[in-house]
Amino acid sequence: MLDGSDRARLVDILGEYVRFDEPLAPYTSWKIGGPADAFATVRSEDELAAIMRTIFKRKLPWFVLGSGSNLLVGDGGIRGIVLRLAGSFAEVAVAREGEHVVVRAGASAGMPALVAQAASQGALGIGSLAGIPGSVGGALRMNAGTDREFGEFVRDVYVQTPAKPAAHAVTPQYFYRHTTLARDAVVARVTLAFDAADPAAVREEMQGRLVRRKATQPLAFPNAGSCFRNPPGDKAGRLVEAVGAKGWREGAAEVSELHANFIVNRGGASASDVACLLARVRRAVAERFGIELELEVHFVGAFT
Ligand SMILES: Cc1cc2nc3c(=O)[nH]c(=O)nc-3n(C[C@H](O)[C@H](O)[C@H](O)COP(=O)(O)OP(=O)(O)OC[C@H]3O[C@@H](n4cnc5c(N)ncnc54)[C@H](O)[C@@H]3O)c2cc1C
Repeated sequence: MLDGSDRARLVDILGEYVRFDEPLAPYTSWKIGGPADAFATVRSEDELAAIMRTIFKRKLPWFVLGSGSNLLVGDGGIRGIVLRLAGSFAEVAVAREGEHVVVRAGASAGMPALVAQAASQGALGIGSLAGIPGSVGGALRMNAGTDREFGEFVRDVYVQTPAKPAAHAVTPQYFYRHTTLARDAVVARVTLAFDAADPAAVREEMQGRLVRRKATQPLAFPNAGSCFRNPPGDKAGRLVEAVGAKGWREGAAEVSELHANFIVNRGGASASDVACLLARVRRAVAERFGIELELEVHFVGAFT
């Protein structure tokens, strides 16, 4: 996939911030996944533009990783370049502007810290995003949320693509756990706007939600949150539980006893273990209820 000159070009742009044949398991919340041919840590929009130009010219395969909290990376890893944003992409600024709390964030900023900062300024509705462990870019791509979703608060989005490497504004539409953001768009930065409310009340509501999440989610073992999207008018977790799947295992992957829509890695699970377990659960739900559950987690890379 990448020849010697591609590798040399990546080293020219990124120096020590590119690694080859880098295992991806440490970069995913499931702690699963084989190696990336090239793992590029990109620290500025200029660096990203240079990489995008190389990708465009050489037609190289690539993938952008956020915090890896919604990903099943295949045991065979990912061919081409895996991009991870860092440096200036991690910046967050939160300010009260008139009746609004405005958050300007780079795509690699972590949602938990952003949520805490925004809550302390009284951002109304921020509690809906509390406890979601990903990055800003991943939250936008997934339209992450609970009763309210990321997209509701977006004021502007800047992306970079191989064909148009400089950061430019786009206006995606947001749907339940997906958006119309182009597949080849890397989110560079986002502005969010919230109605301003009393900070103490916002913080208290958020804390309540965090406590409830802790009690209902199996956070002691590596996981990727909910595996299946809720079908219209129902809950995926309810359907999975109803077929008796809690506790089912494939290798070291297990359907959580605490929350049936979570699969936990009990130690050393492979991507194939998780994929087999997901398929088994899906089949059982389809046979019993005639409902084909759709995956919320993204599969990426080579599955063996
Ligand atoms: C314990 C736990 C609880 C969770 N609870 C929730 C919840 O309540 N609600 C919810 O919606 N989700 C939840 N999730 C799932 C997950 O955290 C979200 O989907 C999150 O938004 C993913 O962000 P990420 O940065 O980890 O993205 P990743 O998993 O790294 O990537 C997900 C997708 O986003 C793309 N992506 C990442 N960064 C960018 C970028 N800069 N530009 C373009 N595309 C990008 C990736 O290519 C990939 O397709 C939970 C996960 C866990 C582990």
